[in-house]
Amino acid sequence: MDLSDRNRGTKRKHSGDKHRGAFVDDVTSVRHFTAPVPDHATIQSTDVGGKDEEHYRTLYNKELNFRALGKQDAELGALLLLKGGSHLDFADPQAVMQLTKTLLRLDFSLRIELPLDRLCPPIPNRHNYILWLKDLVDSTSPSYSPTYEPARRVTGLDIGTGASLIYPLLGCAQRPAWSFIATDVDAKSLTFARRNVELNNLQSRVRVVGRDVDAPLLPLDELDVETIGFVMVNPPFYTSESELLDLARQKSRPPNSACTGASIEMVCEGGEIGFVRRIIDESLKLRTRVQWYTSMLGKQSSLDVLIGILMEHGIDNYAVTAFVQGNKTRRWALGWSFDHKRPSLRATRSSEPTVPKKLLSFPTELTAFQGTLSIIDSENVKRVLCDTMETLDLVSWKWDSDGSRGVGFADGNVWSRSYRRRKERQQQQTTVSSSPQNHETSVNGTETDLKKTPRDVAECAFGFAISVQVERSAHDTDDSIVITIRWLQGQDYPLFESFTGMIRATILRDASISGGNKGVAQSASA
Ligand code: SAH
Repeated sequence: MDLSDRNRGTKRKHSGDKHRGAFVDDVTSVRHFTAPVPDHATIQSTDVGGKDEEHYRTLYNKELNFRALGKQDAELGALLLLKGGSHLDFADPQAVMQLTKTLLRLDFSLRIELPLDRLCPPIPNRHNYILWLKDLVDSTSPSYSPTYEPARRVTGLDIGTGASLIYPLLGCAQRPAWSFIATDVDAKSLTFARRNVELNNLQSRVRVVGRDVDAPLLPLDELDVETIGFVMVNPPFYTSESELLDLARQKSRPPNSACTGASIEMVCEGGEIGFVRRIIDESLKLRTRVQWYTSMLGKQSSLDVLIGILMEHGIDNYAVTAFVQGNKTRRWALGWSFDHKRPSLRATRSSEPTVPKKLLSFPTELTAFQGTLSIIDSENVKRVLCDTMETLDLVSWKWDSDGSRGVGFADGNVWSRSYRRRKERQQQQTTVSSSPQNHETSVNGTETDLKKTPRDVAECAFGFAISVQVERSAHDTDDSIVITIRWLQGQDYPLFESFTGMIRATILRDASISGGNKGVAQSASA
């Protein structure tokens, strides 16, 4: 990793008042906790764009270079020098803590104070959780935008924020329009967490709240908060002290060091399954008041159990990921939602090789066509797609020719033969009937007013985006075309598959009619 370059980049990106921000988001209304809200211009003027997003995404792709880090941070350098300059002693709590402080300062311009007897967060792992959350939240925006919207205000609840306040710090540093409620039950951690809010000037964006161990984990009503964007937690993983001590022995680390944390941080009734089960129970009551409920998990076996519980409750909109920190410690994370917006493939399945397939939720992207067509036909394909959408009884359809992407919404399977036949009959009846109040039963069996009024697409049973990517060939006239269907909304996976199949059939039929198809259509695959 080129650390000098990395440092230059972050210095430029993070300056002055970047942390001051908002508390109320577009899916959030906070009745009491209203911090000063920056206007649109303030948020947009912060230098957080596509480039920075990529910067954060690849920040810890390579192993840390301690020698280079030590050169940039004298305090870390002093600890490294004792060990020959390129080595960090992970058994030394002071050294581990200094590494955390150094990375926060160099990569995020954050300051932190920590006691030695509380958990010291490993930054690459905690950063992984934030990256995944960004994917989940960005890909399920109320605007259905395919990219990050810097002005979108999102509030997160970090349960058990710890002394470090690590998730609110990392979240606020990367996302100027994000705000946090951070809870904990441990007095010492709460004191340090509040101190870390002040050290980073985040008083208007992070609210630290003390809780009782048995009180609700998601205290939206008590805090007078109506809705929030996400819940996150790194729960106590272990069921007992002895399980914790066994772990410390296996890793040859002293218990209660900066590496392992205090008992309250590591142990709770039922371990992580018990903790997340409580969140699931509360989520069943709060439902869409939180868009994404998420948790990190220390054991893959917990994933099986918790997904089983989600299934029992009919919650199939969930996402799973694995965080690989360095090459030793692996962590998992699970997120679920009662909202019908489906997250991107990257958010739901990026960890496919590390998470067993049976635990993954439905794919949210399918390839409808992949192959080569002539240049004329690549434009033709877009026209055919748009024409086809126009003929369907969609609630809404918008094509963005710059992005070669169209977004549409339907009430159900409006492309099936039976639906079309029914519609034709309906139209015939309309022409013979003089009554403006004519109603007929739709394919779903519901009453449909023939005169459509503008509808909120958020209520539609199916939402999709069609993207056409064309790669021009330098040598001949053949273009390589990929048509991807993204499932944006809905509960009916077969409907999404059926729609993709209809698009594939349409393209193949049209290509053969125009005589330009030289390509091979591939079957739909995630
Ligand atoms: N988020 C920090 C700390 C995680 S350790 C990090 O990732 O490094 C788990 C934290 O949960 C501890 O700080 C512990 O005090 C807190 N905790 C335990 N039970 C809790 C509860 N019922 N409500 C809120 N926080 C709790």
